Amino acid sequence: MHSTLPGQPFFHYQHAQLQVEGCDLGALAQQHGTPLFVYSKAAMLAALGAYQRGFAGRHAQICYAMKANSTLAVLQVFAQAGCGFDIVSAGELARVQAAGGDVAKVIFSGVGKTRAEMRQALAAGIGCFNVESEAEIEVLNAVALEMQMRAPISIRVNPNVDPKTHPYISTGLKGNKFGIAHERTLAVYQYAATLPGLKIVGIDCHIGSQITDATPYLDAMDRMLDLVQSIEASGIAIEHIDFGGGLGINYQGDAPPQADALWAQLLAKLDARGFGQRKLMIEPGRSLVGNAGVCVTEVLFMKPGEQKNFCIVDAAMNDLPRPAMYQAYHAIVPLDATPKATPALVCDVVGPVCESGDWIGRDRSLQVEAGDQVAVMSAGAYCMSMASNYNSRGRAAEVLVDGSRATLVRAREPVSALFAGESLVG
Ligand SMILES: *Cc1c(COP(=O)(O)O)cnc(C)c1O
Repeated sequence: MHSTLPGQPFFHYQHAQLQVEGCDLGALAQQHGTPLFVYSKAAMLAALGAYQRGFAGRHAQICYAMKANSTLAVLQVFAQAGCGFDIVSAGELARVQAAGGDVAKVIFSGVGKTRAEMRQALAAGIGCFNVESEAEIEVLNAVALEMQMRAPISIRVNPNVDPKTHPYISTGLKGNKFGIAHERTLAVYQYAATLPGLKIVGIDCHIGSQITDATPYLDAMDRMLDLVQSIEASGIAIEHIDFGGGLGINYQGDAPPQADALWAQLLAKLDARGFGQRKLMIEPGRSLVGNAGVCVTEVLFMKPGEQKNFCIVDAAMNDLPRPAMYQAYHAIVPLDATPKATPALVCDVVGPVCESGDWIGRDRSLQVEAGDQVAVMSAGAYCMSMASNYNSRGRAAEVLVDGSRATLVRAREPVSALFAGESLVG
């Protein structure tokens, strides 16, 4: 028996056991324990491949937005495939360097870069600072001049388009903390062009995350191209245009456009407006890794109740923060799908953390008992990178699968590491 999961071509059941590529998830969980994140390299490369096909014949650079998943082995996959990286901290820059990434292909986003981070990024030779405020322009100019350097910059525009996604992950609307209002952009470019510590190289935007419709991208592109025209008409050259990330994935029957189909539409607009040969950049995160990973967790107890039944598992909100943070949906499937005598029970799948917000799935029909294992699907993005040690829980282990080869790429965090930097008084 061989059956696939909808929207998950790299995960399938064989003899009713869930597999990732050529590896059995149950065997990996047995070997490494749970909770365990498992990633498919082929799934990552397939997701990247859709963008690469979309940009065939163009001058384009894909910068993986590594906050989605910053595990070194994941970065290595993208670095080896030619990607640059979109970073938001000096810690992420250090990870790019440790993973063998090309620092010249790094762009530095974020509303709150510190002077120390600016210095570190300049010294490392990063490709571009995506500047997010007028105050940041002043500070970056001063830092670069102190180092007798010129900082390459792009200004992040807030194009004021509604990406129609969760309010916590929409970033390109008036009232968001991100970017510079598009009405102010021309004036800010003109001012930045007078500063000797800066070198203008591009323009960028990023309108939100988990976007499932092409329209907001098309609208944002029109606004960006209008701006590029007026900035260039004022005598300032813009080498690259960066359209950010944000493309959604299928969590629960979501149907975002495929990256190549989306870019066919966007490139048609670029061509029509005469920008088809411009250097393009994008910053995808979730769409490159989200559906490449699962979190395997073990059922500790079944707890039937009067109003609710609970399935208590050994993964929790510290491992999988998305449901608690944004009421996000993750499919949850058993590793062993052999038909059972146990009746299916509708239950909330919850972790051991002492918070009512610690849930992973609500009202799921599951045919499981204590000791069984389930896979939380679509857990490649914004799970491990957001994991915490809340409740003094060490972070989970991670395995990267490539065909029939599985490599432990992050050891389970031992409890001793949790208080290694602490000391008693006296
Ligand atoms: C988070 C982020 C991205 C990536 O967003 P995804 O939705 O994961 O594709 C890209 N650019 C910036 C500036 C970001 O903050």
